[in-house]
Amino acid sequence: MAHMGGAEQRFIHEAFDTNWVVPLGPNVDGFERDLEDWLSPHAAQGDIYVVALSAGTAAIHLALVMLGIGPGDEVICQSFTFSASANPIRYLGATPVFVDSEEGSWDMDPSLLKTAIEDRIQKTGRKPKAIIPVYLYGNPARIDEIMQIAASYDIPVVEDSAEAMGSMYDGKYCGTFGKYGILSFNGNKMITTSGGGALICHSKAEADRVKFFATQAREPFPYYQHEHIGYNYRLSNISAGIGRGQMLILEEHIAHHQHIHYIYIEQLKDVPGITVHTPVVGKEIQPNYWLSTILVDPELYGHTYQELAALLAEHEIESRPLWKPMHLQPVFADAPAYVNGVSERMFAQGLCLPSGPMVTEEDVQRIVSIIKDFK
Ligand SMILES: *Cc1c(COP(=O)(O)O)cnc(C)c1O
Repeated sequence: MAHMGGAEQRFIHEAFDTNWVVPLGPNVDGFERDLEDWLSPHAAQGDIYVVALSAGTAAIHLALVMLGIGPGDEVICQSFTFSASANPIRYLGATPVFVDSEEGSWDMDPSLLKTAIEDRIQKTGRKPKAIIPVYLYGNPARIDEIMQIAASYDIPVVEDSAEAMGSMYDGKYCGTFGKYGILSFNGNKMITTSGGGALICHSKAEADRVKFFATQAREPFPYYQHEHIGYNYRLSNISAGIGRGQMLILEEHIAHHQHIHYIYIEQLKDVPGITVHTPVVGKEIQPNYWLSTILVDPELYGHTYQELAALLAEHEIESRPLWKPMHLQPVFADAPAYVNGVSERMFAQGLCLPSGPMVTEEDVQRIVSIIKDFK
């Protein structure tokens, strides 16, 4: 369930009162400015221009449109993710090439990325046209290394930061390292606009071009002239009003997720067979801990993660398995994949625990007790 701070209604009322119940409008501009002002002081590079869109998936789609990706192209994508990271590759008729994760972050393994690029060049005679690393559960990736490898082959990076709003790597926000970064404001993400997303760009010209594609690619003519395939992907002025309200409680949300995670760590550290995942990438990081995840070792714990999930469900506590890797998904069965066993191992043992803004300290204590007392 989403948590509202109170200011959301004010921005929505304003939209009604001023007759801006439309896509675009003052809340959309305001929300974009709020996001820019929030990201800019801790951006990994230069200028920040944000375009508010109808979904995080739309943001990935338009990033790939901006990069000119089409049929016959290959795009490297992290395998350990939600399908929304990879689907837009297929929307454009291109082929996803999946790369597995590394232990420390559960995110894209840089050395496997290099292997995949080399192998694709050898097999197809062409290099992949983009790389999509994902900050799984808000875990910062080894983004320095990924950016270095990408730069050495001159391949643009689209950071899927849908789950990592507010996560920091080396003091910089995830989503500001690559050519483009994406955010999601779906119901379950760090903040919500009921549904929405954003594309982070680094020049005004690019942001304007994204807005052009997101509003049906209408050329500047007095009549409707179209020279490109367009999309209807702008965020509505009403949703953006919710977003502006949510920006006022963003830091509070992040702090809450982090706090909940630290309690899980502290309380579960001595439970044999239960490991609360905390990313390590060799640089200073500040994950947002969007979701707290555990690995359940059935040998040591005495129960599988499925058995634990069933017990939690009996207590009306919702837990979820980790994302099933894309290279195991029937819909992507024919896509090339470079795997090392990490995502499959995590998927076989992992569980997401309740972590959202509605989860209280008492809830966490109760969840921890159930996990500890499972005989
Ligand atoms: C939620 C999510 C998306 C998609 O965002 P939507 O706003 O739901 O379209 C993309 N990638 C990841 C990793 C996500 O978790």
